Amino acid sequence: CANWHNGEVPTERSADLFQRARRVSPGGVNSPVRAFKAVGGTPRFMTSGEGAWLTDVDGNRYVDFVGSWGPMLLGHAHPQVIAAVQEAVARGTSFGTPAEPEVALAEEIVERTSVESVRLVTSGTEATMSAIRLARGVTGRDRVVKFAGCYHGHVDPLLAEAGSGVVTLGIPGTPGVPAHVTADTIVLPYNDVDAVQAAFAEFGGQIACIITEAAPGNMGLVPPAPGFNAALARIASEHGALFISDEVMTGFRAARAGHWELDGQREGWAPDLVTFGKVMGGGFPSAAFGGRRDLMEYLAPAGPVYQAGTLAGNPVATTAGVTTLRLATPELYTDLLATSLRVRELVGEALVGAGVPHVIQAAGTMFSVMWGVTDPVTDFAGAQRQDTAAFAAFFSSMLDQGVYLPPSAFETWFVSAAHDDAALTTLSEALPAAARAAARALDD
Ligand code: PLP
Repeated sequence: CANWHNGEVPTERSADLFQRARRVSPGGVNSPVRAFKAVGGTPRFMTSGEGAWLTDVDGNRYVDFVGSWGPMLLGHAHPQVIAAVQEAVARGTSFGTPAEPEVALAEEIVERTSVESVRLVTSGTEATMSAIRLARGVTGRDRVVKFAGCYHGHVDPLLAEAGSGVVTLGIPGTPGVPAHVTADTIVLPYNDVDAVQAAFAEFGGQIACIITEAAPGNMGLVPPAPGFNAALARIASEHGALFISDEVMTGFRAARAGHWELDGQREGWAPDLVTFGKVMGGGFPSAAFGGRRDLMEYLAPAGPVYQAGTLAGNPVATTAGVTTLRLATPELYTDLLATSLRVRELVGEALVGAGVPHVIQAAGTMFSVMWGVTDPVTDFAGAQRQDTAAFAAFFSSMLDQGVYLPPSAFETWFVSAAHDDAALTTLSEALPAAARAAARALDD
């Protein structure tokens, strides 16, 4: 459907809107990576989405590999999700009381995952922030272990050496987070069990929890080495600390139960606490944290650790979420994985054809391309060795040809159940020119 192979992509309306936006909003956006700073060009203002496609204000259509940064597992505007949401909205948008859809969503999460009890919140940031508070409240300890390159939302103590927009924009840390707030954060290299053991040898009795992305997707996709998550669970348990698995991105996305299905469930272990977001909101602001019942019972009103939210468990958001999850059947994940594998194959063929060194890394249905490297990337330092100029050239060419990729080399690509043959044809037609553009950028 891309109708502009001659470089004549109209962007006037997006440019006008961006100018307007910059007058009234910092950087013209409400989340930093949307501003295209790492790749250049005009951010596209979208007006609608349908299946695998997005349409912008200038009428350009794009095959979408961002999927709202993960939530749109079924594609945009899935008819059954839209119908359920319309019915829910017509009954009222928020009651500030318990309601049935939030129970149904919690049941669905408990049925699929390792968690026994779940508290709904409104963003992934809130989920990880609350999980850390709970871990500190339960253990009576302050220190937190995290890994360089993992992003857990903009939670003050977790912004140390974070991935996602923090690395995309080259922000080393963040002004506004006092040193004493990150003083209890121990940042370790990812996939390094020895470093974790050394930290526990030194601070064991003071560490409340280890938090990690179940499979990091915010420094590009860096899968856990076999046994790494199991080792974290074991080491935490040996020292009376909790193991928090952040499945905000991977939950109900990497596989039906989340990434845990690919390691913990097979190996017979479970995290103490898990955070969720993105897919479980069906495109609405909704997230959760959960875990063992005895731990979750520390939360108010059952226990003393305070946590609350005016719009937590919102009836419209939870209706969208539960409808999405019910449509996400085992067969859907089988198809999604096949689509993801096909996309990786097409991208790999084009990059090899153009002579662009790269490694494609994956966890379940999620993957990303590591640009300009020849060996698998196992940690943040490795991810930072990518050739971001090659990615920027590739990105711009793809965008001009109607393919919308995450505008950063440090982000995961997302496919949806709606990525059909038409979407993949547009992708494969765009790839050769984009791969050549990346090759030229590498030579510069
Ligand atoms: N945790 C992970 C692993 C994430 O990828 C993100 C967001 O990308 C978050 C937490 C924060 O979620 P939110 O943006 O909803 O606050």
